Amino acid sequence: MGAHIIEGKKISEQIRGELLQEVVNLKAKNVVPGLAVVLVGEDPASKVYVGSKEKTCIELGIYSEVHRLPAETSEQELLALIDRLNNQSTINGILVQLPLPKHINEKAVIDAISVEKDVDGFHPQSVGNLTIGDDSLLPCTPAGVIELIKRSGVDIAGKHAVVIGRSNIVGKPVAMLLLRENATVTICHSRTAGMEEIAKQADILVVAIGRTKAIDSRYVKPGAVVIDVGINRLPDGKLAGDVDYESCLETAGYLTPVPGGVGPMTITMLMSNTITAAKRANGIEV
Ligand code: NAD
Repeated sequence: MGAHIIEGKKISEQIRGELLQEVVNLKAKNVVPGLAVVLVGEDPASKVYVGSKEKTCIELGIYSEVHRLPAETSEQELLALIDRLNNQSTINGILVQLPLPKHINEKAVIDAISVEKDVDGFHPQSVGNLTIGDDSLLPCTPAGVIELIKRSGVDIAGKHAVVIGRSNIVGKPVAMLLLRENATVTICHSRTAGMEEIAKQADILVVAIGRTKAIDSRYVKPGAVVIDVGINRLPDGKLAGDVDYESCLETAGYLTPVPGGVGPMTITMLMSNTITAAKRANGIEV
């Protein structure tokens, strides 16, 4: 039989086409969505991510500002910039690229972002809103996981979803979003006993642990939807997921590749959040 490969790159391009049209519609109402990206220091990976975010904004007609600050920027200076961006009407979304240099308290910085502009969805109030079911901007990678599943034609409601990993940026919010979609959700983590047996019960298995190819076909129920969030760099420079792709190809019903699965969705959902924030700021229905 063989798994249906969920092509994140294609799905992401399809969504970007829809977003492009939304931006055109908003511009007709004199609304231009705006994103501010803040980069502190010279981390090479962060520089690449910020570059792709800027490029995608340009492609979609979203106004973008990139604030590149030196590594020795003080926490106070950064907080002052956030305060300015919170009050700047041309900016609907603020993203501070993580990790920040060690002398800056990441939590203090995230907490300072106005919740209406929290396009990363990491602010405690955004997390709380998601949990109680109020409107909020959703964390990008978890939102991307849900879009991939839905756009592959899979019904989430009533399914048993198992999430492996419980980080604040992936595992926990993915679990919360699956619950919101009416799945029955189990969360596994590094201290879970009997994980293989639990994972094997999953109709939908989402893996976000940061361990190269740790999950193979022994963890997968025949026909299950397997979403691999992991991005791991191999010694030869290539990327690999947390799921052993080859091993699961025959067993899984649906499977995401790495690269080209969840990865491309993250920036796309960031763009989507920026547009949503712009709509809300202008009283336009989302
Ligand atoms: P993390 O290190 O913060 O959390 C890992 C989680 O996995 C922890 O909750 C831990 O309990 C659990 N875990 C670790 N080893 C385990 C094991 N052997 N069995 C069961 N659970 C185990 O990682 P993260 O930030 O959640 O990221 C996870 C992966 O997703 C990484 O590979 C990361 O690069 C990737 N990621 C990708 C994207 C994207 O696609 N854009 C975004 C964020 C993270």
